[in-house]
Amino acid sequence: MSGVSRLQYPTDLRIIRVMCAGRVDLKHIFYAFSKGVDGVLIVGCRLNECKFITEGNYHALNVALLSKRIMEHIGLDPRRLWIEFMSSADGVLFAETVKKMVKTVRELGPIGNGKVKERLDEVMRLIPYIKIATREKLRVKLTDPSKWEEHFTKEEIEDLFKNVPSYWIDPEECRACMACLRRCPVGAIDGGKKLIHVIRQEECIKCGTCAEVCRFGAVKKLVGQPVPPPPPEDMRTVKKAAEA
Ligand code: SF4
Ligand code: SF4
Repeated sequence: MSGVSRLQYPTDLRIIRVMCAGRVDLKHIFYAFSKGVDGVLIVGCRLNECKFITEGNYHALNVALLSKRIMEHIGLDPRRLWIEFMSSADGVLFAETVKKMVKTVRELGPIGNGKVKERLDEVMRLIPYIKIATREKLRVKLTDPSKWEEHFTKEEIEDLFKNVPSYWIDPEECRACMACLRRCPVGAIDGGKKLIHVIRQEECIKCGTCAEVCRFGAVKKLVGQPVPPPPPEDMRTVKKAAEA
């Protein structure tokens, strides 16, 4: 990237190097937009020229295709996200790509702070769920460009957001083993020894780990139904605690 300053790019252009396009994650893209960045360009090595078996550039392609569909769903113009593949010798192509992208994004105008910002924050919170729900498709190597457009469909993304699950601990079945509390990646579970555990819904990122680790089947996945309120704090003693 040594020639960047000579090319007189806009002063608000920021370049983040993550070494391999395979490391580009939904959270990088949506974090940038949620912080008010007007456009994102992902640059990966040329397809089929990755020197590792992981071929991370194909993964980046899937992440970008999925992100574009999510953007469309939340009312953020997908033309704000670009992905291009090039080698370190493609300086001219890089310069041309940046120019075209900046022109497009300028025409689209600033991203704004209204409803889209709220929806971006919601997407950020749901990223673990989105990644789990789309993991099979994120692994596909899309060698045929004619399949890119429909790899993730509009209907599929609508369903994804319509069927966001909630996780709820059934107070009758919780045995206070504390496994879920220890494994929750965001510390969204209240509990303790001999206490019925409770998920703080507003902090849950829907990763499903608690349901996976509960050996008593006390964590329920709810889709399209309200989450029952937690038991009052003074009524959280379990009837039968799990043996240590
Ligand atoms: S893992 Fe299951 S039984 Fe153990 S505390 Fe959590 S919900 Fe209760
Ligand atoms: S699904 Fe369970 S483990 Fe995952 S964030 Fe929510 S409460 Fe925590």
